[in-house]
Amino acid sequence: MDIKYLKGVGEKRAEAFKKIGITSLEDFIRVIPRLYVKRVNIREERNHYADVVVIYGKVMDVEPAAKMNQPIKIFLNDGTGTIEIPIFGATEFRSKQFRLHENYLFYGKVAEGWSSTKYKLDYKDHLKLEGKDELERKFLKLPFIPVYQIQGELKKLFIKPLLLARIVHSAFSVIYHQRSDIIKETLNENIRDSMNLMSKREAIAKINFPMNESERETARKRNAFDELFYLEMIMAFKKRMIKNETKGISFKSEIKKLSENFVKCIDFELTGAQKRVINEIYQDMKSDNVMNRLLQGDVGSGKTLVAIYAMLIAAENEYQSAFMCPTELLAEQHFHTISDFIEKFNQVSGKDYKVAFLVGGQKKRLREQIYQDIRLGKAQFIVGTHALIQEAVEYKNLGFAIIDEQHKFGVLQRAKLKEKGLNPDVLVMTATPIPRTLSLTIYGDLDVSVIDEMPLHRKPVKTFLREEAEKKNVYGFIKDEIKKGRQVYFVYPLIEESEKMDLKSAEENYQILKKRVFPDLQVGMIHGRMFWYEKDEVMRDFKDKKMNVLVSTTVIEVGIDIPNATIMVIEDAQRFGLSQLHQLRGRVGRGSEQSYCILVGKNLDDISKRRLEIMCETTDGFKIAEADMEIRGPGEFYGLRQSGELNFQAADLYRDRELLLKARDIAFKLVDEDPQLRKPENQIIRNYFIANYKDSLYLMKIA
Ligand code: ADP
Ligand code: MG
Repeated sequence: MDIKYLKGVGEKRAEAFKKIGITSLEDFIRVIPRLYVKRVNIREERNHYADVVVIYGKVMDVEPAAKMNQPIKIFLNDGTGTIEIPIFGATEFRSKQFRLHENYLFYGKVAEGWSSTKYKLDYKDHLKLEGKDELERKFLKLPFIPVYQIQGELKKLFIKPLLLARIVHSAFSVIYHQRSDIIKETLNENIRDSMNLMSKREAIAKINFPMNESERETARKRNAFDELFYLEMIMAFKKRMIKNETKGISFKSEIKKLSENFVKCIDFELTGAQKRVINEIYQDMKSDNVMNRLLQGDVGSGKTLVAIYAMLIAAENEYQSAFMCPTELLAEQHFHTISDFIEKFNQVSGKDYKVAFLVGGQKKRLREQIYQDIRLGKAQFIVGTHALIQEAVEYKNLGFAIIDEQHKFGVLQRAKLKEKGLNPDVLVMTATPIPRTLSLTIYGDLDVSVIDEMPLHRKPVKTFLREEAEKKNVYGFIKDEIKKGRQVYFVYPLIEESEKMDLKSAEENYQILKKRVFPDLQVGMIHGRMFWYEKDEVMRDFKDKKMNVLVSTTVIEVGIDIPNATIMVIEDAQRFGLSQLHQLRGRVGRGSEQSYCILVGKNLDDISKRRLEIMCETTDGFKIAEADMEIRGPGEFYGLRQSGELNFQAADLYRDRELLLKARDIAFKLVDEDPQLRKPENQIIRNYFIANYKDSLYLMKIA
């Protein structure tokens, strides 16, 4: 049936629906309400103060606007009482739409009226409905009206929330009465039974038109399970394909000698966790399966050293390694760390390994030289940014790749890097602790190694929350610490949309600190608008103790390693995410002295205060990440909302973490037992997969 025949649609609106991808009844199955608005009686209004609701009643009076900027006022009676509904911006024409003694459905927010005992409804939308036919009467009986996202094309044709709800309602009426075949079950009966999930048919009806909240939740859960389950199916297929079907490099050479030389280059013991993950990585590298592993570890847990060890294994087998970082500053830092280490290693082992540095914007002559070193295999270790995967870079024999802070890279970049080599083993490193549910989702096709232990001599950073007014004391404390020879970071937030203003305020504050607060001390500044070599110079001066205080925007977030810097003051701390604060704080507490982090807050509301207090209570990155995700939601948390990776309609990674773990178990077991989904009981899943995951079909080898 053409959707133009649906009640309330017609030719013109059908065109608009087409433009947003709704061309047939089937397409309505995929829409999910953004929210639900409760149908209430006017008498109950006080119980719904500040809620959005719908009410249905008769227009008793329409009061025209007293002046230009005043609202017209509708008085609606539903048999239990009367409520005033002011409508702003309504023209005279509009006021004529409302006919006395006719019935309308109104959608709005209950607000305080002109006296404390009276309420009014802040208008959002209305729909004229007389309840003349069976379908209208049914619609009017719904306890919740679903509200859907209204996209551009629909807006242009004045399709408003209530009208859209009614169109969807009539679409479902047709579906359930005449075309119920178009709702296809997407899960096996045994999975549904074992998870106690309702049928797809029931779930779709109830997600749109629930009779009560628990029904809505069970329906949501069923749909959420589908989303998570099919995501994990893809993960399971990918993982299986990587494991079984492509042969990788086997890095066979003995590592006894390597280990001996390695420990000669460091003046401390590796932590137990470092040793364990090095072994996990080594086992992967030795086997001819392609390694695809995530190395997770809190800031300062010693991941870089693990990475160097792994690159040395590759080098001992005469393969090159690429180490790709998300920013130039970080690439620089790693380049220095790795070069210093390799220099020592060359001395103790008699090798002649070389480290190359490749970023954008290097002079042509230099760049050509670096390209050549890479092509001829003169450089065994290549550290850099995205520049590492550019067309022009040819590797002699890339066997191992490390990607730092992968969440800033896409899957595509990873694939590109792989194309450069002989199916290199890949190690993804992340300093941001990720709650398990998230890592299973974003990195679900990777094996995971975790460094869950800090080097012994580390003292946890002491963290305090201070108000703007208490800054004087903070300055006094800082001066004392500087007298003891310590150094200090001052960090100012830089948030994209107001970057210019923020930068201005950071610069002003820099002047104040320099001229008024610390006139006798050396104060420097670094920010993201500087060229990389300027930043490098500032950082080097700070490292060489030519400055006591470094004022910075968030460019120091990752990678900077200056053990003598023991105090970090974070201004306007409430503007940062918790995980970001944790990253920043990781820049202090890197030496053996006690370090401090002082969060300065401005006009804190309860939530901001609670968030910042979590920072004061714990230095455990995983706990902080969980709390952050709980407060902000996973999309915000990882900035992944737009990326499509976490584009769920029903699932919520925080609330549904148990569900995710179960979905994952079931999916992995299923792919393990029936990798091509040939068993009769899996036909439902096979068909759904074929219909909905065309891009991933190659994974099943059935395309
Ligand atoms: P991450 O990359 O995980 O943030 P790094 O590898 O930069 O951590 O290590 C932080 C600092 O700790 C470096 O100065 C490093 O040399 C040092 N370090 C690493 N492992 C150990 C260890 N086992 N014992 C003591 N210090 C260590
Ligand atoms: Mg291998």
